[in-house]
Amino acid sequence: MPINRRKFITLLGGASLASTLALELKGKAMKQPVLFLGHGSPMNAIAENNFTKKLNKLAQEIPIPKAILIISAHWETKGSWLTGMEKPKTIHDFYGFPKSLYEVQYPAPGSPELVSKIQREIKTPSIHNDQNQWGLDHGTWSVLRHIYPNANIPIVQLSIDKTKPFEYHYELGQQISFLREQGVLIMGSGNIVHNLKKISWQEDAPIHGWALEFDQWVKKRAQERDFESLVKKATNTKAGQLSIPTPEHYLPLLYVLGAGGKDGDLIFDIEEIQNASIAMRSFRLT
Ligand code: ZN
Repeated sequence: MPINRRKFITLLGGASLASTLALELKGKAMKQPVLFLGHGSPMNAIAENNFTKKLNKLAQEIPIPKAILIISAHWETKGSWLTGMEKPKTIHDFYGFPKSLYEVQYPAPGSPELVSKIQREIKTPSIHNDQNQWGLDHGTWSVLRHIYPNANIPIVQLSIDKTKPFEYHYELGQQISFLREQGVLIMGSGNIVHNLKKISWQEDAPIHGWALEFDQWVKKRAQERDFESLVKKATNTKAGQLSIPTPEHYLPLLYVLGAGGKDGDLIFDIEEIQNASIAMRSFRLT
């Protein structure tokens, strides 16, 4: 879904064109953690700030994945879809931003092989193969270009079926969990708190009380491995309703919880709130 102009932060750099070295999904794989990332403004793609500096260091914490399966808040569909193309295009799904943001390309290869594998393994729901509609949207490339700047790891996006309840997304996350053993890094890219109507133009603006309250509630539930509450009770409070005015930025979290399971360690890599109402909280489950 395109998003409107948000004049957030100073523009610092441009795109780096990277090589495309396709890695095949075979050979010995190291079990991958799962990763949830806040992405916030598209301007984070070309910014240099606390958030992006932490992303820069993240690749060192994760075994090199054979491929990445990513659920971005910005690909909402009817039914669940995977990007099946060999070379997914870089989509600039926003308007009113500086020209340099539109010049960013993230030419990572796709992985039709990974798509076939998922379609073979998961029968219900049936997952569709998109050949020409989507590609890599800014929920994907605005963060991945800071973590894997060479764009040399194959990437497949999994869409968010906007017709389904929260449980569907958590359960589909559980179903894709087997990929971790095969060296696939499962990532969700959204924001735990995402309210554009309550936003401040200043990146480091004072944080709304309800935003802080909900961000901390999610942190505690995750620490206690109370994923059921995160699936079923997120919008039970006023703070939850203000933090999730629409579900698409929250739902990638549920895929990551489902795929991550409750047995591993929980590591919060980033804990901050930008622009008063956008939580950048990012974490790994190992
Ligand atoms: Zn977004």
